[in-house]
Amino acid sequence: MPQGKIMKALSGFYYVLDNDHVFQCRGRGVFRKNKVTPLVGDEVVYQAENDREGYILEIGNRKNELIRPPIANIDQAILVFSAVEPGFSSLLLDRFLVLIEANNITPVICISKVDLADGEKKEAIYEFAKDYEAIGYEVILTSTISKEGIHDLLPLFKHKTSVFAGQSGVGKSSLLNVLKPELDLKTSNISTHLGRGKHTTRHVELLMVGQGLVADTPGFSSLDFLGIEAEELSAYFPEISEKSADCKFRGCTHVKEPKCAVKAAVEAEEIKTYRYEHYLSFMEEIKDRKPRY
Ligand code: GDP
Ligand code: ZN
Repeated sequence: MPQGKIMKALSGFYYVLDNDHVFQCRGRGVFRKNKVTPLVGDEVVYQAENDREGYILEIGNRKNELIRPPIANIDQAILVFSAVEPGFSSLLLDRFLVLIEANNITPVICISKVDLADGEKKEAIYEFAKDYEAIGYEVILTSTISKEGIHDLLPLFKHKTSVFAGQSGVGKSSLLNVLKPELDLKTSNISTHLGRGKHTTRHVELLMVGQGLVADTPGFSSLDFLGIEAEELSAYFPEISEKSADCKFRGCTHVKEPKCAVKAAVEAEEIKTYRYEHYLSFMEEIKDRKPRY
């Protein structure tokens, strides 16, 4: 049976891409009984009726699944943070990184609007970029005005399913427009971003960009740590996770325990203080969470 990937879901039809060909499919078969609804991004087994239409018979196991936008099997999130307008926040970046890693998605940090940063601001941005690169993240600085960084972004999409994520107004639509001009997404001034997200009513669709697939709607609008346990938090801070093997106590949470290798590394300036502080504040947030019954 042929296999493909759902690119778009609209009015009861699923558009399944198999190589370069798209089949308009309806659902049929076992997944109906299991009450699984096909999602954009699903890998499916389908049966072609002719060269345009077919039926979905089976949905493959999902690697992950986002609720907003509804999309499955995301490999990578391009995490867009603007250098200015709105200003760069490492605290918010770290929140996104934790959530993305917890969802089994590889993050790429994109610092946008670098054309607007100069002097000290620019230096600070480069410093942050260096810090995050040092702990193993891919960091790309972009401008849709000077086109800086766009060439570095494009190859990252190859053979992957990606979403853009990040606050409103950071330039996600502008980046997608540069990568895929025929898309012609509406971009707006900061002032119009104060209300609700402008993408709330749109359907999600996967687009071919640079030999890969990219969702045309940004992901990760909700940023709470629901479902993340205290013990697993350090796994989403690569430099903390690396040091934790040397902590005296197994299961050390690197907060108050003695002989903690992580705290020692912070004191020795091997781990950035701001990263450790963010870890502590997320830890508190998770511990304060009311138990759910
Ligand atoms: P989104 O909400 O993340 O999709 O952000 P938009 O793409 O709508 O961009 C918000 C605003 O930032 C718009 O006014 C864009 O023109 C502007 N913008 C986006 N990218 C850049 C950039 O690289 N440089 C500058 N100077 N402005 C940008
Ligand atoms: Zn420790």
